[in-house]
Amino acid sequence: TRTQDEEGLPHATKRTMADHLRKFESLFTLTPQRMRMITEAFSETLELGLKKPGQVVPMIPTYVFGWPTGEEVGDFLALDLGGTNLRVCLVSLKGNGQFEITQTKYRLTEEQKQEDGENLFDFCAECLKTFILTNMDSIVEQGADEEGVKEDGATVAAATAQAAAGESEGGGALIKPGQELALGFTFSYPCAQERIDHGELIRWTKGFGAPNTEGRDVAEMFRKALSKHDLPIKLTALINDTTGTLIASHYVNPRTKIAVIFGTGCNAAYMEHVSEIDKIAHLGIDPKADMAINCEWGAFDSFEHEHLPRTPYDIIVDQTSNKPEEQAFEKLISGRYLGEILRLVICELIDEGVLFLGQNTYKLDEPYCFDTAFLSLMESDPTDELLMVIGIFTHFFALETTLAERQFFRALARLIGRRAARLSACGIAAIVQKMGYLDEGCSVGADGSLYNKYPGFADRVHEGLIDIFGEKGKNIVTHHAEDGSGVGSAIIAAMTKMRKDAGIY
Ligand code: BGC
Ligand code: MG
Repeated sequence: TRTQDEEGLPHATKRTMADHLRKFESLFTLTPQRMRMITEAFSETLELGLKKPGQVVPMIPTYVFGWPTGEEVGDFLALDLGGTNLRVCLVSLKGNGQFEITQTKYRLTEEQKQEDGENLFDFCAECLKTFILTNMDSIVEQGADEEGVKEDGATVAAATAQAAAGESEGGGALIKPGQELALGFTFSYPCAQERIDHGELIRWTKGFGAPNTEGRDVAEMFRKALSKHDLPIKLTALINDTTGTLIASHYVNPRTKIAVIFGTGCNAAYMEHVSEIDKIAHLGIDPKADMAINCEWGAFDSFEHEHLPRTPYDIIVDQTSNKPEEQAFEKLISGRYLGEILRLVICELIDEGVLFLGQNTYKLDEPYCFDTAFLSLMESDPTDELLMVIGIFTHFFALETTLAERQFFRALARLIGRRAARLSACGIAAIVQKMGYLDEGCSVGADGSLYNKYPGFADRVHEGLIDIFGEKGKNIVTHHAEDGSGVGSAIIAAMTKMRKDAGIY
């Protein structure tokens, strides 16, 4: 059993902590030169993904053609299956970058992420149904008397049929009886698409593992789940959250050329010239057209591990994950993993007898118990005594800390958070370089918990871009994106509908 150290101190001293910190500084710090090398390799990877099908970074053609015009109007449903939540939205596009949104969120349980895919899509369909029933009056135009629609178990089918029979005008309802509401389904996992309303799941990411789903068309699976309920809905577009973010951000800010999600997962999308996407040349799409590409850059350097500086902790995160070797870039950056990296460092120092001598540290043994939000909190602690850090350790882990330890934890958080931001800058730089955006400059629409809540994350990305490009790096700025999975999804559904109505592929 552990006892107090020689000096009778229950905790590590300031000196020992400073010594340890130096080691981690060298492990987690990225020099500008290293960043330029990573950017170079990244660019090549992006090029390769556009040329050949089935690459590690798949550079997925999304069948979202060009930027929105701002003329997209109408009412759309959006379903957003993300890493943490399921969200149902009703989006009313007003044109000119204006919109209104009504939404409900459901938290996904760990079980739902692991049980059969069919159950997951059934859950999606059920949430959608509940949402529709709740907002029924404003969705389907009702007859003069609305008696047929009752809270207690009246189905949408009944309501629709009743509305179909009804003669009078509804008060501002979105669809008429017999009509369908277009739905954009934001499914934030890599899907190989042949059309916009189709997508085969290449692999689960972000800890999902639902069996019987990889390799299958998730749009079809969802349609099947939907068909168990009689709902006036048509799945119009299957989109990635990054693609939605790209389109939504451009809708309100036309300087947006790239979108990045820094959330539970990490990924980017941008608008590419069809003539550059060699692997779909056989489809005969107008080469002068533009199409959004979902990069799935989280997969950069997977399997080979040639380019990214992984520490021993990153390797443990990878090997103990449900998908070893995959999503190598994402595992160094996204919110799902940063807390776990820090936890592994702490656990190593506990094993070496450096930290928490004489205290019971069992609570830290649980994988993923150290939330990335704790890193945010530690970094933003404004007090000299680091009272918020005290709070985290006493409240969640029943551990006492010295000021030296707390300063060390905070410094570690800074290293891990900074590395994530600087690696992200390499990915952005690769796209900027590929598209030649450096001189004219562009804006990057960014979203996700890390970008929105982690203190200084955006500034660190910007610093990283300057380290890569020099002063010109200042031409590339990030801004908080519009809600891509809701609003973006609706705009894409609208764009798709307009193309269909005009008879374009
Ligand atoms: C997924 C991407 C998604 C990203 C952000 C990644 O794990 O593979 O499809 O865009 O997370 O949500
Ligand atoms: Mg999301």
